[in-house]
Amino acid sequence: MRLVLLGPPGAGKGTQAAILSEKLGVPHISTGDLFRYNIGQGTPLGNEAKTYIDAGKLVPTDVTTRMVEDRLSQDDAKDGFLLDGFPRTVEQADLLDAMLAKQGTKLNGVVQFDVSEDVVVERMLARGRADDNEETIRTRLQVYRDETAPLIEHYGDQIIAVKAEGTVAEISAATLEKLNNL
Ligand code: AMP
Repeated sequence: MRLVLLGPPGAGKGTQAAILSEKLGVPHISTGDLFRYNIGQGTPLGNEAKTYIDAGKLVPTDVTTRMVEDRLSQDDAKDGFLLDGFPRTVEQADLLDAMLAKQGTKLNGVVQFDVSEDVVVERMLARGRADDNEETIRTRLQVYRDETAPLIEHYGDQIIAVKAEGTVAEISAATLEKLNNL
């Protein structure tokens, strides 16, 4: 199954992706995790991405898309994947479509985690990641509203909306039930 997970920062995409990845037997591919890994290793990609991430801004699309294309071309992603954090703009969504078309495939759906801003701010402050200070959180929410939320309309009837405000187990059960109906 080829899925995109969509939702504001702090929606619990990463937590849900880890569970869904195991249940569905497809890799969890998080652009944020890939960037953080590269920053930790001190690679040129990591060094380039760090300033943007620290400021809560989007890393330029060409850099991000190359990283995703490279990851999707690996063997374990041939039969499916959960993309977490990509696409984040309509431009990236078009580039993803083109990448998949080249492989003769397409997405099965886009899971949209629906959660209020109050809840996401609370969750982000609780997890305490390096880019989770109040100012950066505000910037990332603004970027989400301006750049990423339009993807909901862009994907139209490919959207599988899940209310993401219960417990982790409730949310993953609700998601799997909707995916079973695909
Ligand atoms: P995340 O772990 O998904 O919250 O991502 C952390 C940070 O990585 C974001 O705030 C962005 O700076 C960067 N990032 C992750 N995915 C993307 C993307 N698709 N496009 C641009 N920047 C991204």
